Amino acid sequence: MRESDAMSTLCEELQLADCERRYRALVAEIAEIGFIHRGSLVRRYTRCGNPRCRCRAEPPKLHGPYWQWSGKLAGKTVSRRLSSAEAERYSEWIANNRRLSELVAAMRLVADQAIALILRGEEPPSAEMPSSHRAGSMRQPARPHNGTADETTEVTT
Ligand SMILES: [Zn+2]
Repeated sequence: MRESDAMSTLCEELQLADCERRYRALVAEIAEIGFIHRGSLVRRYTRCGNPRCRCRAEPPKLHGPYWQWSGKLAGKTVSRRLSSAEAERYSEWIANNRRLSELVAAMRLVADQAIALILRGEEPPSAEMPSSHRAGSMRQPARPHNGTADETTEVTT
């Protein structure tokens, strides 16, 4: 493969076909992603309340590691203790989630480029104003002096 990385998605001077190919490749990558989960994993070492515990010694030997998931649920930051086995699975799902975000961001970049190429090919630059705007500004100065209104009233049957 010549392509170094599917993530280098800026199609600088590329043709529309290149953008489409790259876009399809990104979509195909998304199709391969497993389950996703938001939030992040934190590894914690803690001290307990026992003043004679090894975690209070010098040097301290802290308890842990403990795994903790934290993320937002319904707008609130929450955290949850996980076993190390759970943490391992969560790390995969969270990595999938991150990968999905990266791929969607890459798709947006490619789509922006493709859309710019499409619009450039289809319409002259002057046609980019909203059509309602143009219709209004053209009609007003055009009418007063050319007697089209009089002509139509003069038509008889
Ligand atoms: Zn302790």
